[in-house]
Amino acid sequence: MIDIAQLGWEAGTVGELDHRALKAPHVKLRSFTQGPTGDVVYAVDLRINRPNSVFLSSTEMHSFEHFLLWGFQKYMPQNFISIGLMGCQTGFYLVLFNEGRAQTIFDVYEKILNDILTAGEVPYANIAQCGNYKNHSLEMAQALAKRVLEAKSNWRQIT
Ligand SMILES: [Zn+2]
Repeated sequence: MIDIAQLGWEAGTVGELDHRALKAPHVKLRSFTQGPTGDVVYAVDLRINRPNSVFLSSTEMHSFEHFLLWGFQKYMPQNFISIGLMGCQTGFYLVLFNEGRAQTIFDVYEKILNDILTAGEVPYANIAQCGNYKNHSLEMAQALAKRVLEAKSNWRQIT
């Protein structure tokens, strides 16, 4: 059995919540699935903006996505499965294998955001590794990283 509270999440915030009540930026366990041999897949929301307020632009989402892909692969190579965009342009979906501890995920996220601030270029922003390689902005990704980092003390405040 998975003990959500022991992993550092508030049990009442797992699953779908009324989007009108959501604050942002926040980090929230969306769901988890345990297989028959005990392995667990965790789906985590990295919400950046409040729903139905301000939306991330295609360019800032894209460059931020590349950095998250690069960073979670780098810091959690045994656990990282995927990162994806929320179609509503307010955040990202993170999927991890056998790592659901809130503090561990927060710490890696913080490391990646700090890496973005000092990066010299957007990773994988080239024609061989990206499907829209001109649609990138290091400056936008850095401004976004700075904003999310500055709100770090609120990441646990979901509603
Ligand atoms: Zn791309």
